[in-house]
Amino acid sequence: MYKTLQASLLFLLVSFCALAQQPQKPNASEIYESIKKLNFLGSVLYVAAHPDDENTRLISYMSNEVKARTAYLSLTRGDGGQNLIGPEIRELLGVIRTQELLTARQIDGGEQRFTRANDFGYSKHPDETLQIWNKKEVLSDVVLAIRQFQPDIIINRFDHRTPGSTHGHHTSSAMLSVEAFDLANSQTAYPNQLENLKPWQPKRIFFNTSWWFYGSQERFEKADKTNLIGFDTGEYFPSKGLSNTEIAALSRSQHKSQGFGNTGTRGTQMEYIELIKGEMPNDKTNLFEGIDTSWGRVKGGQAIGTILKDVEANYDFKNPSASIPKLVTAYQLIQKLENDHWRTVKTEEIKKIIAACAGLYLEAVAKTNHATLNESLELNLEVINRSSLNMDLVSYINPNGLLVNKGITLTENNNIAIEENFKVTATDDEEITTTPYWLTEKGTLGMYKVSDPSLIGKPETPDYFTVTFNITIDNVTIPFTKSVVYKTNDPVKGEVYKPFEIIPEATARITEKVIIFDSDNEKEILVSVKAGRNNLNGVVELCHPNNWNVYPDKQTISISNKGEEQTVAFKVIPPNNQDEGFVSPLVTIGENKYTDELIEIDYDHIPYQTVLLPSESKIVRLDIKKKGDNIGYIAGAGDVVPESLQQIGYHVLTIAPEDITPENLNRFDAVVIGIRAYNTIETLKFKQDILFDFVENGGNMIVQYNTSRGLKVDNLAPYKLELSRDRVTDEFAEVKFLEPNHPLLNYPNKITEQDFDGWTQERGLYFPDSWGKEFTPILSMNDKGESSKKGSLLVAQYGKGYYIYTGLSFFREFPAGVSGAYRLFANMLSIGQETLKPEQNLKN
Ligand SMILES: [Zn+2]
Repeated sequence: MYKTLQASLLFLLVSFCALAQQPQKPNASEIYESIKKLNFLGSVLYVAAHPDDENTRLISYMSNEVKARTAYLSLTRGDGGQNLIGPEIRELLGVIRTQELLTARQIDGGEQRFTRANDFGYSKHPDETLQIWNKKEVLSDVVLAIRQFQPDIIINRFDHRTPGSTHGHHTSSAMLSVEAFDLANSQTAYPNQLENLKPWQPKRIFFNTSWWFYGSQERFEKADKTNLIGFDTGEYFPSKGLSNTEIAALSRSQHKSQGFGNTGTRGTQMEYIELIKGEMPNDKTNLFEGIDTSWGRVKGGQAIGTILKDVEANYDFKNPSASIPKLVTAYQLIQKLENDHWRTVKTEEIKKIIAACAGLYLEAVAKTNHATLNESLELNLEVINRSSLNMDLVSYINPNGLLVNKGITLTENNNIAIEENFKVTATDDEEITTTPYWLTEKGTLGMYKVSDPSLIGKPETPDYFTVTFNITIDNVTIPFTKSVVYKTNDPVKGEVYKPFEIIPEATARITEKVIIFDSDNEKEILVSVKAGRNNLNGVVELCHPNNWNVYPDKQTISISNKGEEQTVAFKVIPPNNQDEGFVSPLVTIGENKYTDELIEIDYDHIPYQTVLLPSESKIVRLDIKKKGDNIGYIAGAGDVVPESLQQIGYHVLTIAPEDITPENLNRFDAVVIGIRAYNTIETLKFKQDILFDFVENGGNMIVQYNTSRGLKVDNLAPYKLELSRDRVTDEFAEVKFLEPNHPLLNYPNKITEQDFDGWTQERGLYFPDSWGKEFTPILSMNDKGESSKKGSLLVAQYGKGYYIYTGLSFFREFPAGVSGAYRLFANMLSIGQETLKPEQNLKN
């Protein structure tokens, strides 16, 4: 049963990025739980600031036990965090964490929403946060979330009354939520939203408190709890074979980039919420008291409720398809509801249940995961009804928006395969991008820019390539829309799904994002051009600042196969003096010019992502001197410090913690410990003595920041050294030199205030606040209104070598190409070598 069709599709929207994962295949128990949820018309919105702030126990409890429609509104996408699983930081980390939240919600049954606020890094106070965010816009987005989601109950993760006690983003999330609780129902607040939405008044708003907010369990026991509701979230679900707390742990463990793997618990788990606004329910076991959560809630819902209660009561676990006729009747009645909110929500729910009851499998698979404009594509449609009911595939709407009439009867287990061809076109090349919608325009430090208001709040860009199958069941035609996906078989993993995306015919990348020139010698920069289609011919240029020279001007490329890369080299000659700028490849194919890089993010726990971003690399002509040559690196939570040191001419060898032996360390002038190594690497506990011996014998050891909690060792340094939570988040904070004559500030590079210009995101974090007299503090700095912090750079001689502890954020400054950070680090590596005989210095 094959049919070929060719047509074209206009892209009306700027970008798309499909969520493509294994399709959900609910079993009989899961279908039953969905039917119970279909009969509950109430909703809860949980509000916090970052991916991973959310209490998955509470979200899972509301979704799976109460059966409420439950969503997590994360104000940001977590761009400012660290990444434990790979090199992505900033906006690419935000893409990963967005997907981690979506995966977590698939497990705990919640939905996911965002605002346009950007996680710009640690903020100590909501006053600062709300200045860097555009408060009006973020508040608008919270109001929008409330009007769209129509929650009966809002639960804040954080306390809006305690500014300064936690991350400024946290307190701000609660403050904005409380403010939005009052504004959402006002006709005068954000009236532009009211063109398509109605004002909405949630019934109650709570703060999700716990003993932790009271300082101790004892104090919490004694506290007045009249305004608190406590409930046990330890419920066991026999249909899942899991306790609610076990589901919560599975969900939380999706925050893999943050290292939040979590082991499930069983048994009683109390949660407490404190009423902030609205009336306290008389019956504290019913958060929804005073709210009709039955079908009686909506006009015309009574009849639907009667049918669906009957479906719930008589559900046959051995034959879910027996429920279909009644579900179809209810579906028809739902279509007649005047209340468009519940009509939309419940239509989606009941369609999924009907398809699941029938074992109805519908899929649209592209033969390739990437295509370019004007490319003709083949699509395979699979349609199979695995129930004993007869159905008809009356028609389908293909990705070009064309209705194709079919009139095929779908008898039990008669698999229908249809081959469809369509052509990818767009009104304008510029509109083709796979980039997440919040990254397509340049925002500010605190805000993403989103010009299309219909996208604001959405977790990701909607799929624009879809196929709608019109299936008639019991004389009622129900449209089922499926995103076009790509799937492949991996010999190890088995079936792997990927999104289907449109990419440019050419993309280009420079391997290194920062290229450091430590002398006026030329360097070769490699540009790799990737073909989005077969037979790509064109030229590449490397755009550069005027005072830098690049030759040749142009290189030709000729690539036969789609997906293949060709690499060309340019020689870049820096100016004589310290300078910096950017180089960016420009690919010309016929009349079209391309400047973007295609970034692929591929981890097993989240759907494969592609992001198009302008391709550019920072070039830095550095005035730098250095001593020592061989560096051993012990990786911690992951940073690009080894690559960065290689750029300025060091030989860096990363050694596994198990390989830390006196013999292996012998060859190094210095050993550098990666960020958070003492938080993440158990083995270091047994290696400290070897490392300290290395220092005693004349080596240098540099330890980068660790968090104060969860250290795997008692002896971080050969002398007393205690970490604190002191941090300096203002990257412009003045840096005072406590020891202006110390070698660290003078040899071989003379460090001046200028070396602290252009730092990014912060100065540093988790500075020690107490140390042995052997240590010399070198620098002093502080955030506005705070006491000066002297623990950012501490050095102590130990035997013949030096031990340095630094909380300065070199791991952020190196990838940003900050000259001063390189110069200071070179001094740290060079310490103790001031007195070397001249001939020993020659090798440098
Ligand atoms: Zn947070």
